[in-house]
Amino acid sequence: MLKLEDSYLHKGKRRELIRTLRNKGISNEAILEAINNVPRHFFFDSALLSHAYEDKAFPIGEGQTISQPYTVAFQSELLNVVPGEKVLEIGTGSGYQAGILYCLGAKVHTIEFNKTLYERTKRFLPKIGVKVKHYHGDGSLGLPEQAPFDKIIVTAGAPVVPKTLLLQLKIGGVLVIPVGDRKQQQMLKLTKQTSKKILKETFDNFSFVPLLGDEGWE
Ligand code: SAM
Repeated sequence: MLKLEDSYLHKGKRRELIRTLRNKGISNEAILEAINNVPRHFFFDSALLSHAYEDKAFPIGEGQTISQPYTVAFQSELLNVVPGEKVLEIGTGSGYQAGILYCLGAKVHTIEFNKTLYERTKRFLPKIGVKVKHYHGDGSLGLPEQAPFDKIIVTAGAPVVPKTLLLQLKIGGVLVIPVGDRKQQQMLKLTKQTSKKILKETFDNFSFVPLLGDEGWE
């Protein structure tokens, strides 16, 4: 059962988490503020509740995870959302990253492959005031019916950069995606400078669950 109570203890733990994220190099105040405003423990099963403010990934069922707060903050910094931008998130999972993007003022479209997680998160996010558009399907192919997007964030590890995601970006748009093998991926930021020119920037390694589907692992 989810506990939708945000106590002084939880708020204190969030402030501590924010100090940890600052120490690890996260400096975007809007992102730190969003992390302060979205109670991460709401996204946890009661058995794991006491771990909600550790800077770690945790299971959310269906063999999937809620990303580590540092990873959420790092990807959000690279994405650099401007309020009002149309953002596609691939891999809804628990809905936590979607909640952070919503707090940053994005118009969020989020797609999840796993039907159980899709249904659960679609029911849950409105209960905590997070309004985003949910889709069930293979996000490795993007979301052509809603394209183009200002920004696309992939929250599962991809074997390659799916070309179709680049096609679904506006000119000037940004794709943030971890790419590598099944165990470790390098974070990439791809900026679509013109329809033919992509600026690729590379960052640290991370460890995500695999991106499935046609342009994913299977
Ligand atoms: N963003 C999530 C959060 O805040 O909880 C964490 C996502 S979890 C690390 C990765 C998610 O990507 C899983 O829920 C998984 O089912 C989903 N996924 C994997 N392949 C996918 C695909 N092709 N399309 C959409 N979702 C996919």
